[in-house]
Amino acid sequence: MKFGGTSVGKPQRMHQVSQLITKDNDSKIVVLSALSGTTNSLVEISTHLSHGDKNAAKQTIDKLEAHYRDFVLELVKSETLRAKGNAVVSEHFEFLNIILRISFSDALYKDILAQGELMSTKLFSLYLEELGIDHVLLPALEFMSIDVNEEPQIGSIKVKLTQQLKQHKGKKIFITQGYICRNVRGEVDNLKRGGSDYTASLIAAAINASVCEIWTDIDGMHNNDPRIVNKTVAIEQLSFEEAAELAYFGAKILHPTCIWPAQQQNVPVKLLNTMQPDAAGTVITQEAGSVGVKAVAAKDGIIAIKIKSSRMLLAYGFLRKVFEVFEKYKTSIDMVTTSEVAVSVTIDNDVFLKEITRELEPFGTVEIDRNQTIISIVGNEIAETPDVLKKLFESIHEIPVRMVSYGGSHHNVSLLIPGDQKIKTLQLLNSGLFGL
Ligand code: ADP
Ligand code: ASP
Ligand code: MG
Repeated sequence: MKFGGTSVGKPQRMHQVSQLITKDNDSKIVVLSALSGTTNSLVEISTHLSHGDKNAAKQTIDKLEAHYRDFVLELVKSETLRAKGNAVVSEHFEFLNIILRISFSDALYKDILAQGELMSTKLFSLYLEELGIDHVLLPALEFMSIDVNEEPQIGSIKVKLTQQLKQHKGKKIFITQGYICRNVRGEVDNLKRGGSDYTASLIAAAINASVCEIWTDIDGMHNNDPRIVNKTVAIEQLSFEEAAELAYFGAKILHPTCIWPAQQQNVPVKLLNTMQPDAAGTVITQEAGSVGVKAVAAKDGIIAIKIKSSRMLLAYGFLRKVFEVFEKYKTSIDMVTTSEVAVSVTIDNDVFLKEITRELEPFGTVEIDRNQTIISIVGNEIAETPDVLKKLFESIHEIPVRMVSYGGSHHNVSLLIPGDQKIKTLQLLNSGLFGL
């Protein structure tokens, strides 16, 4: 069971979580995020430090500390536990105050980001102690790890986690931190923003759990982005592929890569609402359930690169050379379209854009378009569903579509549009494809 930031963001919510994890007698591992807003504040502190602005960093640290002091006061009532809670807060804020005096580095940045999950789990553990709920606090830094390519070390996670669990025979409730891990150098690292979902799925796969429940602040995966479109509805069932596609292409409810570990071990994933625990939520399994379009999602900040070359005509090996450039700079390509004289690809970060452009230039004219958005239309057997493409393009006829990708799989059509057209496109698709 994984509980996100909002689900642990208030003492009252921690109360709900305590009820949800004790509603049956099953053994469970409970993965917690940082309290909502904390990781953003930690990023803010780090940004100030990296700019050398210690005063601003100190102000953010003090504000965050005050928030945690109030939180402890409201969370636990006994003097002993309040003292323990305050000791936890002191320990972590002492660390944050010490870093004001040492030079900023990438390793330190990761250490700073880890404080949120370390505190939320310790405070929740104290709360369970007050309620007399027997549990074990498992340190994620002892079993969660990533390799040189920043990919989770599945084998080692399984071995280490199993060892940890073996030390607590007879215990039923284990609490651990989402998001944080160790890297190959043994330093504290993380699974990228939103990574607690990934932790949960990795754990579920490692122990072959009967289910991986992602508890959040909404009643499941919706058919469209509820932050942008007014009328959206929860989807009952998704296949692993559909869910992965939606997560990767912008549905914030799931971390982009969190589906595959559960999929590997065929562990069903459920998306549930902490604030509305009786809502059906979304079930993600091998089977798609129904045929047709299920949802749309949008991924911002996309860069389109077009390589135009008359030499591409009839030339074999051209695409390989182009793709090798991206491989060299560890930059993954999201969309590809080709014609006889040009190939267009999209990437989602500009870290090596200059180098990539320089190396592509010998192949032809290179054009770059920034601020693009990928709109992904996801469903089951879209190709076999009558009228989908017709309805899709009719509903967005006024939107200038830059690229279309279709046929790569049975469950996806992707469009590239200018970023400033995203809101309008999602709204048009909501009525055009879902009649909402
Ligand atoms: P948590 O802190 O629990 O991990 P997140 O904020 O990461 O929660 O994810 C939940 C949020 O994802 C929802 O509040 C919602 O605004 C947003 N969201 C974006 N797209 C979707 C979607 N298609 N379905 C459901 N929620 C979505
Ligand atoms: N606390 C981390 C973040 O805000 C991880 C998570 O919540 O999933 O990104
Ligand atoms: Mg999240």
